[in-house]
Amino acid sequence: MGTPGQPNPRMCVQCGKSLALDANVCPYCGHDYRVQAGPPAKKKTVMPLIGGVLILLGGVLSLVAGLGLVASVGALDSLMLIDVEGVNMFEDLLTACGIIFIILGLIGILGGVFAMMRKHFGLAVLGGVFALAGWFIPALIGLILIGVSKDEFE
Ligand SMILES: [Zn+2]
Repeated sequence: MGTPGQPNPRMCVQCGKSLALDANVCPYCGHDYRVQAGPPAKKKTVMPLIGGVLILLGGVLSLVAGLGLVASVGALDSLMLIDVEGVNMFEDLLTACGIIFIILGLIGILGGVFAMMRKHFGLAVLGGVFALAGWFIPALIGLILIGVSKDEFE
């Protein structure tokens, strides 16, 4: 900050000459300081971060549930002494459900990470929708949070 009577401390970044403190344009080289200021910075809130964490957790829970389902079907199968056709189909169905939960969980985790980074809004929303399978209400809140903070995404 300059005080009256002191030499002006502001120098032009382009030509190095002394500038008035309130000058928008350098009178020597024409460097425009209004342009350099650029567009107003985007307001950043914690909403995408919180939303991303909720979606990420929903994805993790879905992944854990899927892995648990697949593992328990495998354990059940090894306990079965006789092969019953109906039971096998039921096991296949449960395994398929488990794999779907695993895939939903992985995409949910990815979406949560993107939401926390404020990147790839579409993928963050997709991940949030998939994370609903793991933890419905928190993932829904997460989706709402990233929905209202869409402008913060790149
Ligand atoms: Zn200048």
